[in-house]
Amino acid sequence: MKKMKKLLALALAGVMMLSAVACGSKEDGASGDGAANGTANGTITFGTNAEFPPFEFVTSQGAIGEFDGIDMAIAKQIGDDMGKEAKINNMEFDSLLLALDNGQVDAVIAGMTVTDERKEAYDFSTPYYTATQVMIVKEDSDIKAAADMKDKKIVVIQGYTGETCVKDMGYDYEAFKKGTEAVLELVNGKCDVVVIDSATAEKFVGDNEGLKIVEDPSAFEAEEYAIAVKKGNTELLNQINASIQKMLDNGTVSELSAKYLDMDTDEDASSSDAE
Ligand code: GLN
Repeated sequence: MKKMKKLLALALAGVMMLSAVACGSKEDGASGDGAANGTANGTITFGTNAEFPPFEFVTSQGAIGEFDGIDMAIAKQIGDDMGKEAKINNMEFDSLLLALDNGQVDAVIAGMTVTDERKEAYDFSTPYYTATQVMIVKEDSDIKAAADMKDKKIVVIQGYTGETCVKDMGYDYEAFKKGTEAVLELVNGKCDVVVIDSATAEKFVGDNEGLKIVEDPSAFEAEEYAIAVKKGNTELLNQINASIQKMLDNGTVSELSAKYLDMDTDEDASSSDAE
């Protein structure tokens, strides 16, 4: 619990500070420009990857259908503010930005870090959350800093900024499609460390015995989560920004963060994993 409070404080302080981006920020094969695509009549479709508690996960009754989490509640509120029904298109993280290009989704909300490379091809909203990459290790691990990962078996999640960080450090790694799979690999002793976003790491460590988080702020910079839209879709971006600003100002984002960080999402996470 104490850790979660600390994390929440960090996240909120970060949002206020609006600090820099990830570590290096080379990432994601998605490209494309294209004209803005409006939201379909009466609905706004968000793309996400519901494998990322506490931001998005599958549950029986979520904020939007079976999808729940901080991002899902934010998406629902954006829809409400626009007078539209928010819908979710759940897909692999790697496909999300391409889905914007194809017009499959109007916006992407997925704990997505704003990076220089992503910003070149997509427009991002006002950031709503600050995180950082951390290392999940076994409780008895001798990894105390990022440099200690040298010669260790490292696992990352494909397409996440954590992959970029480890790549930029020059270390070999294996990439998994889901955070839950990566953590299972660690639990089973098949790897030494998983590099992943802080709040999600807290969730996974809380859900599994014998794991701990190692932070290294000198190696992993602050990352800001924001919503992506197609480049030039200013009308939608302005609406999203108005909604996010309101939720930041009136405390909704802090309330949602506290609620979902404290919530037991374990069963939800594993049920989504089983699909
Ligand atoms: N923040 C990380 C990124 O943008 C991971 C996001 C996610 O898995 N949903 O790459």
